[in-house]
Amino acid sequence: MSDDTTIFEQIIAGEIPSYTVYEDETTYAFLDANPLAPGHTLVIPKHPYERLNDMPADEAGEIFGIISDIAPAVEAAVGADASTVAVNNGEEAGQEVPHVHWHIIPRFADDNVGPIHRLFDGAELADDEMEEIAADIRSNQ
Ligand code: AMP
Repeated sequence: MSDDTTIFEQIIAGEIPSYTVYEDETTYAFLDANPLAPGHTLVIPKHPYERLNDMPADEAGEIFGIISDIAPAVEAAVGADASTVAVNNGEEAGQEVPHVHWHIIPRFADDNVGPIHRLFDGAELADDEMEEIAADIRSNQ
């Protein structure tokens, strides 16, 4: 494989071992090697799209259907009360492996982690700024 092959492509190819939890023609899921909680799972498309933004909508929809099946299975396997399902979508968002992946992180009532809102200080925006942003998002789709 070429030098710019990511570690995830090597995992899919079986060149690096992983704890597989799901595989089909287009999707692969395995335990994170540095789990944030027992059962921390990564779900990836086999095609090496770098970011969610690069995935065709039908493929993104298909993988999210699979994630919706895997998340309850992960929770059940480790007796979790809930899960955080998240994508670090781009380097500035904390993405380290440039092959889009969904984290499924089991959550427990006593884990003291809180919601992802704790990551941010929050942005104060006036009504006209909110309306302008919403219009820009609509026109960029
Ligand atoms: P991110 O920071 O969103 O790019 O997450 C990358 C994730 O990949 C991290 O949680 C790493 O622990 C995980 N990871 C890196 N190498 C491996 C590997 N060989 N097997 C399983 N997970 C890995």
